[in-house]
Amino acid sequence: MIHVAGAIDEQSRCRHYHEEVDIVAIKFKCCDTYYGCYFCHEEAAGHTPEVWLKEEWDTKAILCGNCNAELTINEYLTSHYRCPLCHVPFNPGCANHNHLYFE
Ligand SMILES: [Zn+2]
Ligand SMILES: [Zn+2]
Ligand SMILES: [Zn+2]
Repeated sequence: MIHVAGAIDEQSRCRHYHEEVDIVAIKFKCCDTYYGCYFCHEEAAGHTPEVWLKEEWDTKAILCGNCNAELTINEYLTSHYRCPLCHVPFNPGCANHNHLYFE
């Protein structure tokens, strides 16, 4: 069961990040819910976000907005910014924010 919160379009874009390539949603550990980005969580969740610890990176916590596949954090971080299943490009700029989501 996939829980998605906050306002995202049908390809997981939110109002903070809405370029063509901004199509992943990220599941937050604290609430087991997908959000379009860190700001979406901040606005909607009402609690402090928790990052995923390294030993939890086998958890499926990335949602591809193109094919709706759930990727593990490891799969996402080694994907070279392409979905391993549908090969759609992800935004490489997201790497600048990895520390907000992952240990
Ligand atoms: Zn949360
Ligand atoms: Zn957002
Ligand atoms: Zn995909």
